[in-house]
Amino acid sequence: MENKSSSSNFIKNIVMEDLKSGRVQEVVTRFPPEPNGYLHIGHAKSICLNFELAEEFKGKTNLRFDDTNPVKEDTEYVEAIQEDVRWLGFDWDELRFASDYFEELYNRAVLLIRKGKAYVCDLTADEMREMRGTLTEPGKESPGRNRSVEENLDLFARMRAGEFKDGERVLRAKIDMGSPNITMRDPVLYRISHSHHHRTGDAWCIYPMYDYAHPLSDAIEGISHSVCTLEFEDHRPLYDWAIAECEMESTPRQYEFARLNITNTVMSKRYLKQLVDEGVVDGWDDPRMPTISGMRRRGYTPEAIRAFCREIGVAKSNSVVDERNLEHFIREDLKLKALRTMAVLRPLKVVITNYPEGQTELLEAENNAENEEMGIRQIPFSREIYIERDDFMENPPSKYFRLFPGNEVRLKHAYFITCQEAVKDENGEVVELRCTYDPKTKSGSGFSERKVKGTIHWVEASQAVPADFRLYEPLILDEASQGSDKSFLERINPNSLQVEQGYVEPNMKDAVGGDKFQFFRHGYFSVDSKDSGGGKLAFNRIVSLKSSFDPTKA
Ligand code: ATP
Ligand code: MG
Repeated sequence: MENKSSSSNFIKNIVMEDLKSGRVQEVVTRFPPEPNGYLHIGHAKSICLNFELAEEFKGKTNLRFDDTNPVKEDTEYVEAIQEDVRWLGFDWDELRFASDYFEELYNRAVLLIRKGKAYVCDLTADEMREMRGTLTEPGKESPGRNRSVEENLDLFARMRAGEFKDGERVLRAKIDMGSPNITMRDPVLYRISHSHHHRTGDAWCIYPMYDYAHPLSDAIEGISHSVCTLEFEDHRPLYDWAIAECEMESTPRQYEFARLNITNTVMSKRYLKQLVDEGVVDGWDDPRMPTISGMRRRGYTPEAIRAFCREIGVAKSNSVVDERNLEHFIREDLKLKALRTMAVLRPLKVVITNYPEGQTELLEAENNAENEEMGIRQIPFSREIYIERDDFMENPPSKYFRLFPGNEVRLKHAYFITCQEAVKDENGEVVELRCTYDPKTKSGSGFSERKVKGTIHWVEASQAVPADFRLYEPLILDEASQGSDKSFLERINPNSLQVEQGYVEPNMKDAVGGDKFQFFRHGYFSVDSKDSGGGKLAFNRIVSLKSSFDPTKA
């Protein structure tokens, strides 16, 4: 892995002080996803933060599945999440599941009841909400609040034993219905749910709530710094309450940082799942998705994602990061690594009438003009080639420097050609160009008698390898550009995917899933691992080239 940035952030400062003061001896962090979907780029920020923090201070990081909500969780997600964390370049110290602690969490809840700090409540969810009060009004106490310890112990045991239906009873913390912090108004600790859990099966029909399970799981694992997103700031007193009242030996502390948001995307597993379930995309790893698996399939590299996360840093207030920021990092990563080659996305056949029939020559092309170490390759050239349809205009505007009748352009790595004639079909569509070439102008020969303003790319026709090219736009458009009050499903971009059928150079025929290239003028592409193979090649455009191609200046 490349060097870690030494830039500081507020959490790192806290860690350094904790080590100095002796509050902690070892830095132990955790990444705690709920296995209810695939990870997205927002999770990557949390992953990088937790793992890199521990790494920097020679500590440890656990991967812990927060699997306390059986209805939404699945082993498919458990496996996908592990794959994604590893792919990002991190390895956990221990793999844990909150469900491993169900028995201990239950016993600690019994302890709370014995101490008079928890009670069984019979209110319905609606009643509880009504009695919770508001920011300006205190809440009202539940009738269950004054039950005896014995009755609470009995009812809680019967909840566990399955005597009650879903929603009939809950276990609540007995804190303060008048607290200005609504989170502290006797929050629910356990709920009844007769559902099958992907790991514990039917052993349990009561499940701990996040606000109870999370602090205790952190304490059980000896987590020193429990980092979460800002919306949990109000929950911190409850986090501390649970650890203190349950008499946990270890006392982790919670710190909050700003959630990552990116323009033109949605970033919540709930929404992403909806896109998958409703068939808007073809799976969690659709290259348009902001999921780690989608970005991997699109062609993003772990290095680029880590560099992006490091660059955006760890902040205390929420903001939205421009998607172009992310694009910058993949370009930076691939700039010197990717083979630069020619691909024709929308082909137009060109016949070079004065080139000898049946002849093929090999021309030399550098593999990466900015990185000599990548060497050179040979590409065939003959009488018939393909060029981009857009590189010819019959009646061009001024300042159009590509092909039009009578005009001369440079073929990248080859010769100058002049357009003599456009051949049309019965509908008047141009189907072929007839050009002549000037043998003196061979690339690399030092020819300098004439200058031409346009350089276009091409692929030799007889050996060209057919390929699909998938070009992407953002899947979801921001509200600002769409009028407000539109749900994310109404903001889906109908042009998010466009497929072109064209050709690549013959030496690309053995490319395999994940191989990445820079196609001259078109941008960076990656071979799609699902839709390539068995003689088929599909390329996903990762990003276009930095300077968006200006047709008037080609
Ligand atoms: P989602 O709404 O996508 O389900 P979540 O926060 O419920 O997100 P979890 O699986 O509970 O997802 O999250 C695991 C960890 O990742 C948590 O610590 C959470 O704070 C963090 N996380 C989730 N989304 C983001 C984000 N957009 N930016 C930074 N961290 C995030
Ligand atoms: Mg969640």
